[in-house]
Amino acid sequence: MAPSGTSFDPADPPRTSGPVVDYTLARRSVLSALRRGTLATTDVCDAHPELLRAGRNIGEERDGRCPVCSHESLRTVSYVYGEDLKRNNGRVVYPPEWLDELARDHDQFTCYVVEVCIDCSWNHLIRAYTAGRLFSGGAVVGRRGSTNGGRRQPGHSEQG
Ligand SMILES: [Zn+2]
Repeated sequence: MAPSGTSFDPADPPRTSGPVVDYTLARRSVLSALRRGTLATTDVCDAHPELLRAGRNIGEERDGRCPVCSHESLRTVSYVYGEDLKRNNGRVVYPPEWLDELARDHDQFTCYVVEVCIDCSWNHLIRAYTAGRLFSGGAVVGRRGSTNGGRRQPGHSEQG
């Protein structure tokens, strides 16, 4: 059996085992298998056409070089999945702010961040995490100054 989980299929994402799953180690072991010759480049450079297209068009540039072709052509693409998302299930996150909107409007969904090389088609999951109302206060929320979150005045104690 070939090691699984080397390439990311937007139509069939792997199951996650917790609220946040880091795939750094898995990625590293795929790369070392590649160096050992256990895996061929064709095994790991097989990005799904959809993923590749998303990487090209809307992917965020990623620092560093591609571990396979050494070009500076790495992008990251995020996908969201969840029954609760209905028609947005399996969609690419774009623009990035859309993720905040989804997190406000839905209880729970999973976000997958995938690295893809738009040159050689190398691809691997970076991480997966659960987001949504039930998980607010977690990874994503970027809040800029609370609008009305319990009126607390600095330097003034309520009871003395
Ligand atoms: Zn590459």
